[in-house]
Amino acid sequence: MIQHDINYYKNFDSIAKEVLALLGQTIEVNTFFVSILNPIHSFMIKSFNRNAKLICEGDTLPYNMVYCKLVAENGLEPLVIPNLEEHELTSGHPATKPIGNGCFMGAPLTIEGEIIGTLCAFDIKSHVFKEYDLILIKSLAALISHTINLEKGIIRDPLSGLYNRNFIYNYFDYHKDKTNDEMALLYIDLDHFKFFNDSYGHDTGDDVIKKAAECFLQTVPEGSHVARIGGDEFIVLLHPAYCEDLMKSTQQNAELILNRLTTMPITINGNDHFVSASIGISFYPHQGTEMDSLLKKADRSMYMAKKSGRKNIQYYHMQ
Ligand code: GH3
Ligand code: MG
Repeated sequence: MIQHDINYYKNFDSIAKEVLALLGQTIEVNTFFVSILNPIHSFMIKSFNRNAKLICEGDTLPYNMVYCKLVAENGLEPLVIPNLEEHELTSGHPATKPIGNGCFMGAPLTIEGEIIGTLCAFDIKSHVFKEYDLILIKSLAALISHTINLEKGIIRDPLSGLYNRNFIYNYFDYHKDKTNDEMALLYIDLDHFKFFNDSYGHDTGDDVIKKAAECFLQTVPEGSHVARIGGDEFIVLLHPAYCEDLMKSTQQNAELILNRLTTMPITINGNDHFVSASIGISFYPHQGTEMDSLLKKADRSMYMAKKSGRKNIQYYHMQ
């Protein structure tokens, strides 16, 4: 989850850049980078190369082939290797053969005690790291970890685990920055949700929200983003890469979401209940180039869906 979400962490982005630049000014090796790890890959999220481009942002390397794995296995202290060919951990390592007499230093990034990535210094020449370098990389890794921890809470809704309203705005800026591709914004509000709160209590209402969230997540095509932006209000951003014909694909997906939701049994005290939703849709960039206006237009369409008897889909341009 982190390796995907981190693209939308605005503070992480600027802090990681500053950290790498600071390391570059202080330690005389060529390359510094931040990686995020999973059991299969190491993702190079941010990099700074003084001269030779040894590591590039966006590189994805097999986990078994990277020194970052050794950092993760080393625990919470930085791993320091002045000479890759001479060190017991790296002399027979598959990455060392093409590099030869290089150097490496890495400190772990952690979230709640779990190692999720690394902050590293690297060169194809050997280098004697100073005691101060170790303290610096360890402190800066702690700073980056702290930033990631804070930002994780800023873009996720704790009840449903979905993204939240903040995320929608961060994602939109990121999307506009990278591409001008079209996208559809679905504004979904559950119908008569208060019935669950009023009849069975707030906790049952919370369970209904969680079930609906799960249903949306399982239904949308890969690459879409689902957020909960209020009590029983959700947003789905349909990712353009998966929508060759945006209108057609949006209609199909909106219908699928509505069908899956309305046929999903919600069992309370042994009895099955069902919940439906009203969906309003707006399109980027045709109906707005700012998230505020797109949200407003989708919200207005959702309101029209409520007025038309609920459990239906309305488009902004059709009003
Ligand atoms: P409508 O069909 O017009 O949408 O009616 P509704 O009953 O769904 O009412 P509405 O969408 O206006 O209100 C949603 C309610 O959700 C209001 C609020 O009391 C409740 N709510 C807001 N946040 C939470 C939450 O985190 N958990 C629970 N259980 N209820 C919440
Ligand atoms: Mg509602």
